[in-house]
Amino acid sequence: MNIAIDGPAGAGKSTIAKKLAKDLGYVYVDTGAMYRAMALYFLEQGIDSADEEKISAASDSVDISIRYQDGEQQVILNGENVNGKIRREEVGNMASATSIYPKVRTKLVALQQKLAATTDVIMDGRDIGTCVLPNAEVKIYLTASSATRAKRRYDELTEKGESCDLAAIQQDIEDRDYRDMHRETSPLKQADDAILVDSSEMNIEEVVATIQKICQEKM
Ligand code: C5P
Repeated sequence: MNIAIDGPAGAGKSTIAKKLAKDLGYVYVDTGAMYRAMALYFLEQGIDSADEEKISAASDSVDISIRYQDGEQQVILNGENVNGKIRREEVGNMASATSIYPKVRTKLVALQQKLAATTDVIMDGRDIGTCVLPNAEVKIYLTASSATRAKRRYDELTEKGESCDLAAIQQDIEDRDYRDMHRETSPLKQADDAILVDSSEMNIEEVVATIQKICQEKM
C-alpha cells in the first residue's frame, strides 16, 4: 500500500508525512531531497540552471541513491551522504529551476518507483499522485495559502536565529509555486482522485489526524 502526498513548497508535507510514516510503520520517501541532491551536483559542477544540454548530460552520469539510517532518509550523491548540504536556500532554488528538465525527472522518477515497488511508502513531492505512483491507494493534496506558508517559514528561520524578510519569503514561495505549476513536464497539480487538505487554519496535529482518518477509511 502506498500513500502519495503532493502540494506546494512549505505546505508541511514532510513534517506530516514523517509523523504518519512513524504511526503507520511505513517508509517515508522525501522526493524533494533527491531533486535537491541533483541540484547540489549541478552547483558543484558550476553548471548554469538554464543550460539544459549540460544538465541533461550531468543527470546521466550522476549517481543518486537512498539509504535509511535510524529511520531517516539519507541521500547519497556519488558515494557521499549529502543530507547536511541540501537544505540551503541556494540548493532549493537550483532544484526548483532544474526539476523542469525531463532528463532530471526521468532519472529520479525511476528511483522513486523502484523504492515504492518493494515496500509500503509514504512519498511526498509534486507529482507523486499524478505521475510517480498513479495507483497509490491514498492520494492527498496538501496545501495552504502562500501567506501562511511564508509565515511558517519565517518563524522557522527566526527560531534558528537567522534574520529574514517575510515579504521576500512569500515572494520566493509564490515564484516557486508558479514554476512548479507551469512547467511542461509533470507540473504540480492535484490528481483527479486526490483529496484536498488545506492546512491554512490547522495545526500539525489537526492535519495528521485528518489524513490519518482518510487513510483509515481507504484501508
Ligand atoms: O520539496 P522540496 O522543496 O525539497 O523540493 C525542492 C524542489 O524540487 C521543488 O521546488 C520542486 O521544484 C522540485 N520537486 C519536484 N518534484 C518532486 C519533488 C520536488 O519537481 N516530486
